[in-house]
Amino acid sequence: MYFLVMKMRSSRNILPLLSTMIQRTCKFSALPELTKDRYPNVKRGNYSQIDTKHLNFFKDLLGETRVITDENECLGYNTDWIKANRGYSRCVLKPKSTDEVAAILKFCNENLLAVCPQGGNTGLVGGSVPVFDEIVLSTSLMNRIISLDETSGVLTCEAGCILENLEKYLDEHRLIMPLDLGAKGSCQIGGNVSTNAGGLRLLRYGNLQGTVLGLEAVTANGQILDCMSTLKKDNTGFHLKHLFIGSEGSLGLVTKVSIQCPPKPKAVNLAFLGLESFDKILMVFKRCKHELGEILSSCEAIDADSLAATTDNLNLKSPLEKFPFYMVIETHGSDNGHDEEKLNRFLSSLMEDGTVEDGIATNEPSKMNAVWQLRERITEGLIHDGYVFKYDLSLPLENFYSLVGIMKERVGKDAVRVSGYGHVGDGNVHLNVAVKEFSADVLNKIEPFIYEYTSKLRGSISAEHGIGFRKTKYMHYSKSKEAIDLMKSIKKMMDPKGILNPYKVLPQ
Ligand SMILES: Cc1cc2nc3c(=O)[nH]c(=O)nc-3n(C[C@H](O)[C@H](O)[C@H](O)COP(=O)(O)OP(=O)(O)OC[C@H]3O[C@@H](n4cnc5c(N)ncnc54)[C@H](O)[C@@H]3O)c2cc1C
Repeated sequence: MYFLVMKMRSSRNILPLLSTMIQRTCKFSALPELTKDRYPNVKRGNYSQIDTKHLNFFKDLLGETRVITDENECLGYNTDWIKANRGYSRCVLKPKSTDEVAAILKFCNENLLAVCPQGGNTGLVGGSVPVFDEIVLSTSLMNRIISLDETSGVLTCEAGCILENLEKYLDEHRLIMPLDLGAKGSCQIGGNVSTNAGGLRLLRYGNLQGTVLGLEAVTANGQILDCMSTLKKDNTGFHLKHLFIGSEGSLGLVTKVSIQCPPKPKAVNLAFLGLESFDKILMVFKRCKHELGEILSSCEAIDADSLAATTDNLNLKSPLEKFPFYMVIETHGSDNGHDEEKLNRFLSSLMEDGTVEDGIATNEPSKMNAVWQLRERITEGLIHDGYVFKYDLSLPLENFYSLVGIMKERVGKDAVRVSGYGHVGDGNVHLNVAVKEFSADVLNKIEPFIYEYTSKLRGSISAEHGIGFRKTKYMHYSKSKEAIDLMKSIKKMMDPKGILNPYKVLPQ
């Protein structure tokens, strides 16, 4: 195995691969206060309160074990992954089939019971947990792989399949999922589709609006909508699947997905670089598009404070230290000799002209994984600081990092850490303000300023995490009044009683 050492770096201090972070539950911080108390201006809608008659219906339909009512058992379904939102539902339903989902939604619609669809509950904007006492409809038992066409690479599966399990299954067939994210050990494909998740390789494999070929969804009145095309090209009328990709459970519950899976690359190489300035990150990105061309699969930026969240809080070891910025560059190709040589040539020229100060390159799986841990576990590391105000912005590349400095000045000593990292290849920065505990004062220093700033630059206030509960009132910073009105009309038409994921996505 090849392992290029630049500037005599030793690879031995790279930590062994740690198991996927997200499988551990977040026991490291206290429960957040109830959402209804933290956001007293949001009022419960005029929905029915769940009673014995309703519970009996669900128990008859699903059996006792798939209707969870115990307060402690419900807690995990009520609390989101970053411990920022908590509802108080006392009913979690676990259907196993589309027909069961249809029967549940029909009943809820007729009885005016609000429903919160939930996949892996790794969402970062408060969309996956109830705000008040909405019924949680969990897809976790809908986890069958239905078919795989190895020639076309089209996988068909149920919504509750965990992303990492799909990756493992496809690996046996020399295919990969077109998306990959730090939450892969828990997030489900239905949740990914419903949030239009981006992730680490969007740059190469595109977004789910392109790779999802078809889906099945159940609408609020219990109707099953079969849009399960497995075709790449199908221009027959409106592309209805797009209503469900990224609408965060507000228009229907996604039950099945067909998705185009790329071939597994025969050669994977990775470089981890240390740089002196953000301008140099942009220089490297521009050059790697030209010089690595068709083999470039990922291009990620990490600032020193983000990296420190994994080294300080999670005890990960970084092979590079003391740089203000770092980059992860990955290639996927079919000829290792060719890709290695290309990457080496590229890295050598970056070193020679001083664009990059130091770095390592490797194609050993354990070492590549160790570097990916440093990138993928930043979210987890930051939570150890206390409470994190998370922002997920699309910005023009020249402004990708400018907000981090501005935010440091605005929040000053109130913050434990202000950091920026993200998918530089897609112009998507994750800006985080970590504080010891939630503080409305700090929040007011950040919002709405951060959205006004983003809007002035014609950026997006949510690049990939969605709107969820926490950003509804800021949607107008990225969408026109006419666009929001049309979205509201579509919601009214598809869910006239507003039972699906209320208080989320659309401004009230
Ligand atoms: C460590 C970490 C790293 C992450 N990295 C990324 C990243 O790189 N890119 C990215 O885009 N996101 C990322 N996320 C956010 C999150 O993982 C994604 O949004 C993911 O797609 C959510 O999937 P899930 O199954 O957990 O959905 P959930 O969190 O359960 O739900 C998310 C939303 O979708 C709705 N929903 C879920 N399932 C369905 C369904 N079957 N039908 C209809 N609606 C449904 C929910 O109501 C909710 O509004 C990360 C999160 C963590 C914790």
